[in-house]
Amino acid sequence: MADDGFHVYDTTLRDGAQQEGLNLTVADKLAIARHLDGLGVGFIEGGWPGANPKDTEFFRRAQTELDLKHAQLAAFGATRRAGVKAADDPLVAALRESGAPVVTLVAKSHDRHVELALRTTLEENLAMIRDTVSHLRAEGQRVFLDAEHFFDGYKSNPAYALEVLRTAAEAGASVIALCDTNGGMLPDELADVVDEAVGTGARIGIHCHDDTGCAVANTLAAVRAGATHVQGCANGYGERSGNANLFTVVANLQLKKGFDLVPQESLRDMTRIAHAITEVTNVTPNSHQPYVGTSAFAHKAGLHASAIKVDPNLYQHIDPADVGNDMRMLVSDMAGRASVELKGRELGYRLAGDQSRQLVERVKELESRGHTFEAADASFELLLRDTVAGERKRHFSVESWRVIVERRPAGDVVSEATVKLHAKGERIVATGEGNGPVNALDKAVRLALEQLYPELAAVQLIDFKVRILEGTLGTDAVTRVLITSSDATGDWATVGVDENIIEASWQALEQAVTYGLLRAGHSA
Ligand SMILES: [Zn+2]
Repeated sequence: MADDGFHVYDTTLRDGAQQEGLNLTVADKLAIARHLDGLGVGFIEGGWPGANPKDTEFFRRAQTELDLKHAQLAAFGATRRAGVKAADDPLVAALRESGAPVVTLVAKSHDRHVELALRTTLEENLAMIRDTVSHLRAEGQRVFLDAEHFFDGYKSNPAYALEVLRTAAEAGASVIALCDTNGGMLPDELADVVDEAVGTGARIGIHCHDDTGCAVANTLAAVRAGATHVQGCANGYGERSGNANLFTVVANLQLKKGFDLVPQESLRDMTRIAHAITEVTNVTPNSHQPYVGTSAFAHKAGLHASAIKVDPNLYQHIDPADVGNDMRMLVSDMAGRASVELKGRELGYRLAGDQSRQLVERVKELESRGHTFEAADASFELLLRDTVAGERKRHFSVESWRVIVERRPAGDVVSEATVKLHAKGERIVATGEGNGPVNALDKAVRLALEQLYPELAAVQLIDFKVRILEGTLGTDAVTRVLITSSDATGDWATVGVDENIIEASWQALEQAVTYGLLRAGHSA
């Protein structure tokens, strides 16, 4: 179990799930909770049992299906309604019966919200906090309190906002998390208010939203001012601009400030965990996310590449391996020999001097024609292999292909492709049908090759991007196609460029299949 001296408290399953477009099933929530536990967070807020049937089910299933190694579950809910006893409030009963060892109660700390939203008196709000906290404590649960709209409340009526903290602490709440619910705070003013709150003697936590782009900075400022409990969400998920990104907060505190929050080996797994969670949420990963984004340690500038080769630490703020990420070299038209050599080494090839010169020329020439290797690592690797081998080696050679597109009398449009190719000494002719010409070509080429290479059945085309590139200096516009393919263990991207969109697609498709075969262990 986590050390109680400093809390890492995750609220992805409750506050993060408020993100526009995010819709988590109970099974999704259980899967995310396992990933967060794998990272080693101390607390996972599972949702609001009683108020939301899915969350009630989450807590019920969690008791038998979650085997948490580090984290404790927290049930979220409100203080009792005005004018009833906590013991008689059905929503408080749902928190009691959730089976969660921790209950996080949300309470109003802004006088105007008490009067306008709760429509009760300031005195009764304090009584609701006192009664609910002490009731749940008496029932054996640990209680944290989220002081909602605390910072705006402090501006409106500082004495009352602080009175809320004292009341909760006296009733037995072990942490009071100050919430920047509207997300409008900046680090310096937030730190001053946290300092006042710490002065009450209560244990203080922090919950920030990113509306000013300062959620992580605000969280760090609060810790510096004495907060010992940080809340946040995986990948910064949350309503509006999101919540404080818990991964960034943890990496900053642990790697830069010397806190011992999660096991070192779990931190080294953080990039994988961040991506695994995006698989569950089905939200496209943010490649620029600090620490764990695929671009977080990607270098483009050809100018720096030779120095990076000598000492990578000159160009990165931490060793990417500390968070399970990798330094990546991007091959671009700014690339010089050093970055191509570095990329080759990253892929496991040693290039002789004239080979790397040859490869740089080839990359520059292709990029001037519209290819992009920055986004198509697999195409670059094929080019690299050809250079090292001194010839173009492939698993198959294409004699010809043909596609027809037909609009039938009923109005439906179908495509049919025929490919003729040679592989392992055989001539193969295959036909594929699809909803579009590329789909039909993809089917035909697989059909032709799957008899010889059954592993191709596991390769899927997962993304297809088309861009028209403006013609320059008298040349016509060309079409660039980027194809992303995947198998059981990962994905790869290939690129094709031509004036004709089908030919461009075919180039990318042929490389995608070739690369898939190389991954499956077939040398050409
Ligand atoms: Zn919030």
